[in-house]
Amino acid sequence: MSAEQNRPGIVVAGVSGRMGRMLVQAVLDSGDCRLAGALEREGHPWVGQDLGTAMGGAALGVTVTDDAVAAIAQAQGLLDFTSPAATVAYAELTAQARAVHVIGTTGLSEDDLRHIKAAARHAPIIRAGNMSLGVNLLVGLTRRVAAALGEDWDIEVVEAHHRHKVDAPSGTALMLGEAAAEGRGATLEELRVPAREGMTGPRKLGSIGFSAIRGGDVVGEHDVIFAAAGERVVLRHLATDRAIFARGALRAALWGQDKGPGEYDMADVLGL
Ligand code: NAP
Repeated sequence: MSAEQNRPGIVVAGVSGRMGRMLVQAVLDSGDCRLAGALEREGHPWVGQDLGTAMGGAALGVTVTDDAVAAIAQAQGLLDFTSPAATVAYAELTAQARAVHVIGTTGLSEDDLRHIKAAARHAPIIRAGNMSLGVNLLVGLTRRVAAALGEDWDIEVVEAHHRHKVDAPSGTALMLGEAAAEGRGATLEELRVPAREGMTGPRKLGSIGFSAIRGGDVVGEHDVIFAAAGERVVLRHLATDRAIFARGALRAALWGQDKGPGEYDMADVLGL
């Protein structure tokens, strides 16, 4: 068997998507794994085409397929930044194949998360609303600052994303909100303010609010604002290149190769 064949085989789902293309590039650039498959949904115009040609470059010898069962059966990892419905279906297949499932998809419902939890009984699942090192550091900082400051410091999470994003608040904003709530010894469910519009009344002490801006090609910006009478602390992360998420996801897939079944996040992968 060649050295190339010995490397873990990684399948990328949703290869035509903004993140899918980045994930393909990250796998091709890595010397630690090989591209074992390229998935798209049934009926997608790329299905049956060579991936490289479909992406507008040279042929790669990998044909885009909608046969997820066959593609995942012979892979060691799946990089999945698609849609909640696709992610839940893929989780069942990676569980059967005992392959590492890296989930970047956001907007998952409670029911979706229950399915993912069930699949994680059979194989490692690494899921994060944001796979970048900087954001995962920001999560830790947010937890610490929230724990250090009293309830008279109002917490607001403000995020901005490109015009194509379909869910709000972003998965990252929710991660930051959860960390802030944890810092205060509570859950986000207990402290979260529903979206504000109209006669909202005054702000409730200790609550955590969210605002979302959508426009242009913004990759992802997150501010956690701690506002008190007379002063404010703002923690900020700016993403300028989607490649950070793709590199993080690939790192997670490789990290997961020797891990047992279970649910993991980027703090586990990065050892934070
Ligand atoms: P996108 O450009 O719309 O890409 C999604 C891709 O998934 C498309 O190629 C889409 O195909 C494909 N897809 C949808 N349903 C599918 C199915 N049933 N089976 C196979 N493929 C399917 O979106 P994006 O900007 O790349 O983002 C994708 C997800 O990743 C979103 O949830 C986003 O919030 C999340 N995200 C996470 C991170 C992170 O670090 N965790 C970072 C960035 C983005 P069609 O176009 O044909 O529908």
